[in-house]
Amino acid sequence: MVVANQKGGVGKTTTTVNLAASLALHGARVLVIDLDPQGNASTALGIDHHAEVPSIYDVLVDSRPLSEVVQPVLDVEGLFCAPATIDLAGAEIELVSLVARESRLQRAIQAYEQPLDYILIDCPPSLGLLTVNAMVAGAEVLIPIQCEYYALEGLGQLLRNVELVRGHLNPGLHVSTILLTMYDGRTRLASQVAEEVRTHFAEEVLRTSIPRSVRISEAPSYGQTVLTYDPGSSGALSYLEAAREIALRGAAMHYDPQHAHAGHQNNQRSMSEGIQ
Ligand code: ATP
Ligand code: MG
Repeated sequence: MVVANQKGGVGKTTTTVNLAASLALHGARVLVIDLDPQGNASTALGIDHHAEVPSIYDVLVDSRPLSEVVQPVLDVEGLFCAPATIDLAGAEIELVSLVARESRLQRAIQAYEQPLDYILIDCPPSLGLLTVNAMVAGAEVLIPIQCEYYALEGLGQLLRNVELVRGHLNPGLHVSTILLTMYDGRTRLASQVAEEVRTHFAEEVLRTSIPRSVRISEAPSYGQTVLTYDPGSSGALSYLEAAREIALRGAAMHYDPQHAHAGHQNNQRSMSEGIQ
């Protein structure tokens, strides 16, 4: 699952690590791939990612096996992380001259032999080669949307990129999930934005939205997800509930894969229409 939105600070990393922890706490084996040079997902999971640590950069640029960079997350059984170091900042440029530059992550994942139920990829806030690598490797895209005024600006560009990757490089890719983040139900603006997003993307938006929560924003400074930092908080419960929706959808798709797939394809040809 590719967690992408080229808009910065909308909750991609927060969503990646907390959904991953929620799924792992329910018994799934989950790998988080940190594909952002900022390394925020690695930090939030308490994973060492100083410059010498073997990282996703080595996988992408030097074809190092993914198994050599994956580390277990200490607090959560079944949760693993492929960290990002600052080296990754150069990868956008270094990848340009490499063979199969768009599919290097896909190849690395295909060669990874450990059993996993989910892989969540945290993308940087751009639509460059790192995000393209994630989209080529992934089966579906999760877009976190922050409930504020500019929420839908740039979304059309993101959806067109998904369509381009689907058309040329990864025919199965689709936007499966939209999650409303930092939702503050007391403001009229937040509920208006939420309503607009739900109108455009009735199928994709999860029923659960993530509230604005101090506990969610505090957790990374302790190298923890909110699920271990404050398991009873509203933020933890909302991510658990969102993960439950995602798991149930996945189960439904396995039950009737043809139907689910056809539905997505038809739906999404027109998904970017009407969105700028
Ligand atoms: P970037 O584009 O830089 O990678 P991002 O999309 O990954 O950003 P996050 O880093 O997850 O966004 O979140 C941006 C900021 O908002 C962080 O400081 C995070 O702690 C905070 N934040 C995210 N979700 C919530 C929430 N539900 N409640 C309160 N704060 C939140
Ligand atoms: Mg981030």
